Amino acid sequence: MRNFAGFACPPRQYPFKRVQYGTRHASTVTRANDNKAFSKTLLLPKTKFPMRNDPSKDPAIVQRTTEGLYRWQAGNAKGPLFVFHDGPPYANGDLHIGHAMNKILKDVTNRYHVLNGKRVHYHPGWDCHGLPIENKVLKELGKDMHEVSPSEIRRAAEIYAKDQVMSQINQFRQLGIMADWNSESTYRTLDHDYEIRQLRVFQKMVDRGLIYRHYRPVHYSPSSRSALAEAELEYADNHVSHSVYVTFDLDLDQNISPSLSDLIKSESRVQLLVWTTTPWTLSANMGIAVNAEMAYTVLKSSANPNSAAVIVATERMAALDEILESLELDLKLGELFGSELAGASYKPLFSSKLPHDTPSLPVLPSGHVTSTSGTGLVHCAPAHGQEDYHLFHSLGLVPATSSDSLICHVDGYGCFTSDVVEALGEEAGKALVGKEVLDEGGKAMVGLLKELGVLKKIQRIKHRYPYDWKTAKPIIVTATSQWFANLDAIKDDAITFLEKVKFVPEESRRRLESFIRQRSEWCISRQRVWGVPIPALYHLPTNRAVLDSESLNHILAILEQKGVRYWWDGPVEEFIPPHLKVDGENAAEAWQKGTDTMDVWFDSGSSWSMLQDLRGETQGNVAHLADVCMEGSDQHRGWFQSQLLTLVGATPEERKGKIGPYGTLITHGMVLDEQGKKMSKSDGNIINPLTIINGGKDKKKQPAYGAEILRLWSASGTYWHDTSIGPKSLAQVEEMYRKLRNSLRFILGNLKDQRLSPEDRIPGESMSLTGRYVMHELYKLEAHVRKSYENYVFSEVALPLSRFVNTTLSSLYFDITKDVLYADPETSLRRREVLTVLEHILDTMTSMFAPILPHLAEEVYQTLPQGNQETSSFFSRPWVPLDHSWYSVGVEEHMAAWLILRREVLSLLEMARSDKYIGSALEADVELITEGAGLQEIPQHDPELTQLFNVSNVWRTGSFAHKDGWEYTKLVTLPRLGEYQVRVGPASKHKCPRCWTYSRAEEDELCSRCDAVIRAQ
Ligand SMILES: [Zn+2]
Repeated sequence: MRNFAGFACPPRQYPFKRVQYGTRHASTVTRANDNKAFSKTLLLPKTKFPMRNDPSKDPAIVQRTTEGLYRWQAGNAKGPLFVFHDGPPYANGDLHIGHAMNKILKDVTNRYHVLNGKRVHYHPGWDCHGLPIENKVLKELGKDMHEVSPSEIRRAAEIYAKDQVMSQINQFRQLGIMADWNSESTYRTLDHDYEIRQLRVFQKMVDRGLIYRHYRPVHYSPSSRSALAEAELEYADNHVSHSVYVTFDLDLDQNISPSLSDLIKSESRVQLLVWTTTPWTLSANMGIAVNAEMAYTVLKSSANPNSAAVIVATERMAALDEILESLELDLKLGELFGSELAGASYKPLFSSKLPHDTPSLPVLPSGHVTSTSGTGLVHCAPAHGQEDYHLFHSLGLVPATSSDSLICHVDGYGCFTSDVVEALGEEAGKALVGKEVLDEGGKAMVGLLKELGVLKKIQRIKHRYPYDWKTAKPIIVTATSQWFANLDAIKDDAITFLEKVKFVPEESRRRLESFIRQRSEWCISRQRVWGVPIPALYHLPTNRAVLDSESLNHILAILEQKGVRYWWDGPVEEFIPPHLKVDGENAAEAWQKGTDTMDVWFDSGSSWSMLQDLRGETQGNVAHLADVCMEGSDQHRGWFQSQLLTLVGATPEERKGKIGPYGTLITHGMVLDEQGKKMSKSDGNIINPLTIINGGKDKKKQPAYGAEILRLWSASGTYWHDTSIGPKSLAQVEEMYRKLRNSLRFILGNLKDQRLSPEDRIPGESMSLTGRYVMHELYKLEAHVRKSYENYVFSEVALPLSRFVNTTLSSLYFDITKDVLYADPETSLRRREVLTVLEHILDTMTSMFAPILPHLAEEVYQTLPQGNQETSSFFSRPWVPLDHSWYSVGVEEHMAAWLILRREVLSLLEMARSDKYIGSALEADVELITEGAGLQEIPQHDPELTQLFNVSNVWRTGSFAHKDGWEYTKLVTLPRLGEYQVRVGPASKHKCPRCWTYSRAEEDELCSRCDAVIRAQ
């Protein structure tokens, strides 16, 4: 068939309309009518499957492949349970492309398992509490936090969060996710059942003694007005601070060691030079630390004998050269060890403004002092530094449970409190009260230091500094009373459990492990209103916090009945358990309810508790509740971790190590724009997934690609790295989809949208080499694809499938079988063979892409059903892989040789074409000469190779017969088959007006094949 020759026209297109015969190559004009008559006898493809269509817009298809399918499989699947536990996105705002990729990748996994007969449990969830929603509703109410009652905020936040969930459901639906979006099959962290379960998890951790309250420094975000966990910090490398060098006066009347005394005996004033990057913490100074093993030098000005002597670490002197010079400290009085300095005292920085009896402060030895920065003398403010706090705590100077012993002048807004006058005196202190320590307050402090004459130098430095990851504003370290979970007690068990978890990719294991290893406690309390309460009771007369198993039993029983919000609304006396009630004490006056809420990571982290009853009796044998969790890489410090820690923490000792939250943990990267840049509102490069599906306002710039293209894009990338999306990558994916669709249409067209009857199918052993080769390739591809699904490497589904479509189907099999399909007798053996192969390809290929392109699979299935179409979806029939008998190394090797030969023949034909001897390959014959191969001198016709080369005839012979006319020859050596002399020359026979091959004897009207077809009609 002229139009279908492999090299002469684009192989991917084929005519569905009647071929226009006889315009260019028709032998005589008078045959035109006959030609038309013959063309009607060809078996051209015919299907109702259109070239272009978006099946994700067909409501019937959508229903059968998404919600309807989820419900069907949940009730009917007979195979084992597969639990995919959904990490809840935050119920705030529209979906971004990362959400879309996340849900699609999960859906691909779930659908693969449904196709394999498993019963999939997948309940999408939402994270509904927390600061961003609280801020959003305050903004919508147009009010500040203090103008609205907490219960009003909570009411508004609940309505807002539920609205957002509905809006996100509508968006998720458009992605073609197989899920039941009803409230029973989804979860929200604000659901009553959810909150109660979370509080029960918390209670179990209390039972194990893992929850405690401390007054101590924590990461605190003034912008969020709440304590933050380490997991909520983001570090900026270029944060600018104003660091200062200040001097403290040594108290010469107290505890001076003999060696120090020796060095400074003639001095009236000795100072300690200290460096700090947080001058605002100086009001909370409680000590100066030195390293006992480091050497310190006492310096003096030779020009100015009345000035003070200054002590710095010897090793730091070179680095401090500039400042020492400006102070004219050129004379060394001598050296001593830090151990000889420790134990001395110094006067508080603002002592000149304070009463005379204000006590001096200690110089303390500490290992955390090094010679790598500063002056070797470290200002300690235990309220504002973890290391300082640990030093003071270890020396018994600040008990953890009391708030009296730590000096702290910072309030919940990050501003100086009025207490600061205690450290600075009335006048100086007032200059700071109410000012933000990170802004005006810090500047005012520097001004005061200058005034006081203790500021020796101010220096602008860029350094790494923690920021609040939600507000992107710098945080401070400051002392507050918070509830903590002890992670030191459980992290070894958590890390041991991770050994049983499969990580995809494997490298991500170390990330989660190291995040857990680094933490020793988890600050779980937040000073916000929109969240699950920490139901602690405070006894005012004794200043005691009560949070134990008994009080929780009492409180949770009430909340279970009346709703968790009742904690805020109910009277305190109702929550006091009987054993805490004292005769004669008015409980309503003596007790207060805690107002802290739980860290939202505790909310989502306890979601594993929903899965506990799923496996029923078999649970004892399953080491994990969810088979798979899959989230973005940021969840290593979020949900992946908080699930594991809450589960391990809530598991009683005797069940330790028996159960964990997940069996496989999959991490995906972020989605970037095509320039590899992070998407952000400010850069204006955000790509909305719904715009990809439905198109933008200007369809030329933003075409409507449909859900299938977005799904194919998601699955064909290497999601475990950061991936990028944009017009270029979408166009590539669309092209991939178009070729796939055309291949399906070719098959459906030739099958005429009907299944072959069993007796029409040809068994493998009766097939030609080409047929068996294509089946062998299909078998190999299917095995590879199934393995790739099992390993969650979806790009190894999409890309090899696309290669198969392009290389094996479009450029080879479809191309060489068109003549047989269109012109052979309808029931010829070789035509039935091709249809058998095509039917196999259609079924196997549809199974392979169905998890990624469910709507397309369903559309194919509706066009060509298998079994009972009325009640079922494509996904309701199992994926039965091809039989192993299709695999044949012999066939592959033999075909490999034929394909080399084909390539050589095509290149010779191409030469003949460019030299204008032929227009179409059908105008040529090919001769293959294998001398001494035992072949007869009479040329043998080879129909299989004729088909493979797409020429009119292939003759095999023992030697060349001399022929007239043009010819191209080449010697080709084939592996295992030996040498072939290939000759391409003019067709020896005449053109058949029906099939256009040059295979007609001159005296006949048609070629013998076509003649038989016509006669039979
Ligand atoms: Zn013919």
